[in-house]
Amino acid sequence: MTRVFSAMQPTSDSLQLGNYLGALVEWVKLQETHEAIYSVVDLHALTVAPDRDVLTRRTRVTAAQFLAAGVDPDRSLLFVQSHVPQHAELAWVLSTFTGMGEAGRMTQFKDKSAQVGESGTNVGLFTYPVLMAADILLYDTNVVPVGEDQRQHLELSRDLAQRLNTRLGEGTVVVPEPHIVKATAKIFDLQEPTKKMSKSFSGPKGLIEILDDPKKVAKNIKAAATDSDTVIRFDPEGKPGVSNLLTIYSAFSGRAIDQIVADYEGKMYGHLKVDLAEIVVDYLTPIRDRAMEWIESPERLDEVLAQGASKASAIAQVTLDRIYDRLGLLPPL
Ligand code: ATP
Ligand code: MG
Repeated sequence: MTRVFSAMQPTSDSLQLGNYLGALVEWVKLQETHEAIYSVVDLHALTVAPDRDVLTRRTRVTAAQFLAAGVDPDRSLLFVQSHVPQHAELAWVLSTFTGMGEAGRMTQFKDKSAQVGESGTNVGLFTYPVLMAADILLYDTNVVPVGEDQRQHLELSRDLAQRLNTRLGEGTVVVPEPHIVKATAKIFDLQEPTKKMSKSFSGPKGLIEILDDPKKVAKNIKAAATDSDTVIRFDPEGKPGVSNLLTIYSAFSGRAIDQIVADYEGKMYGHLKVDLAEIVVDYLTPIRDRAMEWIESPERLDEVLAQGASKASAIAQVTLDRIYDRLGLLPPL
């Protein structure tokens, strides 16, 4: 069976809508037909220097939202990255296969380090895509469901996989394919609709958060930045704000964008926003309720994560042993 792997960082107290529409929806679908492995990548989150208690809380809250969205622990593995030490071990090996120039071309590092400034940036943020490649390659992953912003990182994972196979022999690792659903691959910030919605960098008014108070979700949608024109039309270049709202509307209602545009002909942006706010709140409420149930029973959650880690670790060790052997690292007695 082909294998799916994907992950999210515990960098916020709630996932944002882009995480849900760009990736999590696909995680849930793909587990029906694939062997699926999903992770809360807490080691990645260290790159933004979180407080101790905040990181612990966000790790559980992130896992709870995966489960609430429909990741089924009886079918898929769900674990926390730091519980499987092979991720950090393979990342070191892969860093020795990564060119400095190659790592330096990653646009997300450039964007993120520009946002935090040179003194706030760190080597971990620079080598982040190498750890991400390790996350993926450890599980002989065939398919990686992610948003558009991860395309370049995934390309690096593929290049590294091919390089390992060339240097260490065919079959060392599987070369992964991205799974990026065009319609929802990039959800934009509600206030700055030319930037992607982001857990760490969007302001509170730019976000739709899965766990947020429904009133605040509705308020943010109603206050979304649009344009001075009045026509409701899908035009991502010319009308990024309205187009983003139409994308979200279509994803949650299951209706084609053309149909929605036809329905709102002659109507104002305000009508679209009011209806969209209701659709989004209705959709997110049961997910939020289920997430709260998981958050309120941390023992049950930790048990799911422990079982996932033990199974994931067994798979990861087989890959790591194969790579260590082909590298010529002396095996321990
Ligand atoms: P951070 O700002 O801390 O990097 P993030 O919101 O980018 O957080 P990640 O944990 O880095 O979230 O990414 C989790 C998944 O969500 C990835 O597959 C990523 O491609 C996807 N994703 C993130 N933002 C968006 C977005 N705006 N639209 C679509 N997919 C997104
Ligand atoms: Mg991100």
